[in-house]
Amino acid sequence: SQPTKISLQIHPYGKKRKLMITRDVTAVQLAETMRRDFVANVSHEIRTPLTVLSGFVETMQSLELSEEERQQYLGLMSQQAHRMQTLVNDLLTLSRLEGSPAPGPGEWTGTQELLEHVVQEARGLSQAIASTPHRIEPSANSASFWVSGAKTELISAMSNLMSNAVRYTPGGGRIEPGWRINDEGLAEFYVSDSGPGIAAEHLPRLTERFYRVDRSRSRETGGTGLGLAIVKHVAQRHGGRIDVQSTVGQGTTFTITLPPTRVRTTAPD
Ligand code: ADP
Repeated sequence: SQPTKISLQIHPYGKKRKLMITRDVTAVQLAETMRRDFVANVSHEIRTPLTVLSGFVETMQSLELSEEERQQYLGLMSQQAHRMQTLVNDLLTLSRLEGSPAPGPGEWTGTQELLEHVVQEARGLSQAIASTPHRIEPSANSASFWVSGAKTELISAMSNLMSNAVRYTPGGGRIEPGWRINDEGLAEFYVSDSGPGIAAEHLPRLTERFYRVDRSRSRETGGTGLGLAIVKHVAQRHGGRIDVQSTVGQGTTFTITLPPTRVRTTAPD
């Protein structure tokens, strides 16, 4: 639709001047549509596990179950409750990131320490979900320097990329994270995987909330569809960005880039 134009006549010092106020209706409508889509998505994401959960409750109320069956049902119910918890946690994380000011220089953390933390965590996840564990090794070229910002946010962004690599790469696959300083002096955290890759048409939309390439694969592995939206927010709040390069059938590399103000190569005091 066309933008509305509202003209006001103002007369400073008796002189007649015209002030145009332009309100872009298209942008307002778009924001409203996005808000509505978001609410619909959240409702849908909560309704699915809730329906399954209440189904199990009804079954348990109406059937005589053996102890083994009872344990099995309770296990499945607990999975659904866990799924809702993860979703609510991710939603809260997103809203906190959106509503609070950008983190100041904050504390300096060594890239080595950050890397070790997320590698350990990813190995744990791989053991829990893959029949053959992934080969998760920091890149041999990974550089050692210091980055500044909100440490817990940086770790959560790195962890999200690592857990995606584990969740979408078949067991036994290779996952290689690392830090480097690129030619422009920007710090980059990267994770390469030998997974299925992502077709080009999906790449621009990956950081949209609830956007998934393969809905069932995401659900099976406990995905909320919010991980990359969180990563993007963390990167942007630190003055940086997220990028992705992918070749179908070969693998994917996600990169978080931080500006030079957030990097130092000598030990902080
Ligand atoms: P999800 O919780 O579904 O993983 P994300 O926002 O983290 O949500 O990721 C969005 C989508 O991007 C995923 O559903 C998946 O289709 C795709 N994706 C993310 N990381 C990878 C990866 N390393 N390899 C293949 N596909 C990926």
